[in-house]
Amino acid sequence: MVTVGIDLGGTNIYAVVLDGEERLGRAKLRTPSTGDRTGVIDVMDAAVRDALGDAGRDIDEVTGVGVGSPGVVMAGTVGGASNVPGFLERFSLADLLKQKVGREVRVTNDVTAAAVAEHRLGAGRGTDDLLAVHVGTGVGGGIILGGRPFEGGAGGAGEFGHIVVRQGGAVCPCGRRGCVEAYAGRRAMTLAAERAKAAGTSTILFDVMEDKGKARATSGVFAAAYERGDTLVADLLDDAIEALGAGIASAVNLLDVDVVVLGGGFADRFGGWFRSRVDAAMRPHLFLQPPRIRVVAAELGDEGGAIGAALLAAEI
Ligand SMILES: [Zn+2]
Repeated sequence: MVTVGIDLGGTNIYAVVLDGEERLGRAKLRTPSTGDRTGVIDVMDAAVRDALGDAGRDIDEVTGVGVGSPGVVMAGTVGGASNVPGFLERFSLADLLKQKVGREVRVTNDVTAAAVAEHRLGAGRGTDDLLAVHVGTGVGGGIILGGRPFEGGAGGAGEFGHIVVRQGGAVCPCGRRGCVEAYAGRRAMTLAAERAKAAGTSTILFDVMEDKGKARATSGVFAAAYERGDTLVADLLDDAIEALGAGIASAVNLLDVDVVVLGGGFADRFGGWFRSRVDAAMRPHLFLQPPRIRVVAAELGDEGGAIGAALLAAEI
């Protein structure tokens, strides 16, 4: 018997088939950018079938389907995910997907799912207390305490991106001020760059974006502008690193985890240089001395969320 895990992202839907901890198959489909939630659930179902086809397995062999979803997940329901069509208003993703695929469904926050995967099979092996920090379009978090995902009373734990690092600071995509994501999320950094450019600051960020034929400033666009010496991008990166350092230290002071697993498209693109600077920015804010915390790179990449969701589906 096997489990299937799905990672629902704003750009791609990943699915994996696991037999225990062994990956048998995978699929990757584009997330619909328009339409309603029915269209998204249809693509999730297609991803399940494609991954099963890749694994040479049948839906009858599946004991459960796990989903890592953006937004705030509570008891199988999802809401507040602005980057997936139809996922802003709360609804039961577990019920709708179960009707579609005909298997029991367990829904978890996407970064919590990635944290489960890193804990069991990736960079967090050997520790039972870890924080996963995902730096991409936004900034997310997932918490493992005592070897188990910690999801909070209503499923809203782990919102690392909305730890306040500067009271009255920059506006965050969530509408509040001074959150980590207001400085370290790629979407917020892009908006800050647009505002600075409109106010007369010179930057090649948007020229690089056009040269690369991109519709938005991707992690690769930021990296290329930085490598070409763009001072605005360097300043934005400094602010992002400071915010991540302060935010991670605050979380470590609260939870005393052993390991912080740093991943996500933006962090992955900048690599070890970025991670070591975040580590250095964190250290002055650490309360417990001598600090034992380690900041390590996520190992499972784009498929971490889907793998974690499949591992959690084994508990259905
Ligand atoms: Zn926020």
